[in-house]
Amino acid sequence: MSVFRVTATDGAARAGVLTTAHGEVETPVFMPVGTKATVKTLLPQEVREAGAQILLGNTYHLHFRPGDELIAELGGLHRFMGWDGPILTDSGGFQVFSLRDTIAHVDDDGVTFRSVYDGATARFTPELAAEIQRNLGSDIAMCLDQVPPPGVPRAELEDAVRRTTEWARLQRHAERAPGQLRFAIVQGGTDRELRQRSAEELVELDFEGNAIGGLAIGEDRDVTFDTTDWLAPLLPAGKPRYFMGIGDPVGILEVIEAGVDMFDCVLPTRTARTGSALVWGGRLNLRNARYARDPKPLDAACDCPACTRYTRAYLRHLVNQSELLGHRLLTLHNLRFLLELTRNAREAIERGEFSAFKRSALDRIGTWEP
Ligand SMILES: [Zn+2]
Repeated sequence: MSVFRVTATDGAARAGVLTTAHGEVETPVFMPVGTKATVKTLLPQEVREAGAQILLGNTYHLHFRPGDELIAELGGLHRFMGWDGPILTDSGGFQVFSLRDTIAHVDDDGVTFRSVYDGATARFTPELAAEIQRNLGSDIAMCLDQVPPPGVPRAELEDAVRRTTEWARLQRHAERAPGQLRFAIVQGGTDRELRQRSAEELVELDFEGNAIGGLAIGEDRDVTFDTTDWLAPLLPAGKPRYFMGIGDPVGILEVIEAGVDMFDCVLPTRTARTGSALVWGGRLNLRNARYARDPKPLDAACDCPACTRYTRAYLRHLVNQSELLGHRLLTLHNLRFLLELTRNAREAIERGEFSAFKRSALDRIGTWEP
């Protein structure tokens, strides 16, 4: 039985349902990030009430602190963090390769690096990435991949594509947690030929889903979206497509339009931490003095706890005083904003009105600098 079924299409955009061991996920879906087994400051029920269906956990961080074996001993990540819905764990590839200064050595069997926690030498192999995610017991495990930074020479990009496929092959039959799905990650930067090669090789390995990695990592935004437009159709229509690491309102709409089903980003939680809210019209920085006496909610149309009970003036006060409640309320609002945007996009696809929805949403979003 297929774990994913497309229930509506509109152009390249699709609505679907992904079945996991911990429940169904309606797509397109935005996945809040709980790097260290927590969506910072929020209770699982609050995350759910904001509209989240599936959370992200992080292989790299949980392996080092508190340790995936410890989490397994305590019943797995779901029980450990008190979230009984679906969880996707990334493989640690992005963390290892984005902390470039900590990499000691990359070879065909894995990557050796210094842990950001204590500087100790550590090594990730495809087999270990699979084992950590089995210990965590996530519903969706990601293959360990090699993620080159933007702008590297083509030979380096080609090497990363080759390794990513070899590593995926090693993970194909690795032992899994009960019901665990595994997704491959397509690499190749913005090089069309390499992306195509990566996609073909990984599709051939027949994972339950396919991800687009190594984009939205600093290249020009037009290039990100253009690449996604031609890359997404190379991934099987009957399987979920996951764009790793995009979550600003414009980015969400663009990748949905290209036929992407899943995406994640730390943007809503990180933006909250800096005292800003995602609102129609852009980003609202509560540190700005103009909100000192503002009796309005962040967004009159939003039904989140921050908007239904509090004024901008109060939220600004909390932010300025570094009160934890301010951080919590802004996180709740930012998540709600993106989860609602995604849910509305899904409904527009079902009605066959995604283009019009996107046009009107882009007008309301205004100029957006991610
Ligand atoms: Zn709100």
